[in-house]
Amino acid sequence: MTDFLDANGCVPESPRPPRIIGYLGSIVAAVTTEPSKWSRELPMKCRRRPNRKPCPGTIRAGFEPATRNIIWACLLCSDNGVMHHWQNTPWDKGGRIGLPRIGRVTYRRGMLTDLTSAGGIESVVLEGAAVSRNIVVALHDNELLGASGEYGNPLLGDPIQYDQLIIEHSKGETEIVVYNRAIMLFTSADEIYKRVHRVCWMIENAACPA
Ligand SMILES: [Zn+2]
Repeated sequence: MTDFLDANGCVPESPRPPRIIGYLGSIVAAVTTEPSKWSRELPMKCRRRPNRKPCPGTIRAGFEPATRNIIWACLLCSDNGVMHHWQNTPWDKGGRIGLPRIGRVTYRRGMLTDLTSAGGIESVVLEGAAVSRNIVVALHDNELLGASGEYGNPLLGDPIQYDQLIIEHSKGETEIVVYNRAIMLFTSADEIYKRVHRVCWMIENAACPA
């Protein structure tokens, strides 16, 4: 779905995008507004016009089991598809299956001259309602709850860029420490740096879009 967006992540207004984009976007919006474990019938008519007559079928859609894709199909004709990279598009309403319950997120970051000075750096604490749905969804989509550990290399930078995320959730506590995040982002192929970066960026920019 991100292929349909412009560089700012918006749906382009001109030239007028093909109707299929709005159609697929409506399916993403419906599935993420009322997430359900099983696919369900949407109040959406099929887009096809076999023999120039509209197909009277309706659309069934849902999350594809064991993947992050959204699948859809017309119940009458064979029209169907799989959508990837719909997360965080303008059509994504944030609904997911199995969103975690998160009580508190503590984010500490700073530049350290040595590792013993990590205690004195600034922190952002989000608690209760301040843990917005955007942040819960970002933690979920980036699979950070199961990513406890230390990443990066403190020897790569002087001073050391230090990021620590402590996530308190219903299944326990996850602590993630990253050394030299910016350097690691550009030098490592490990996706964990991108995943942590996205969430840290979101926490820092409290005014992220709803
Ligand atoms: Zn159809």
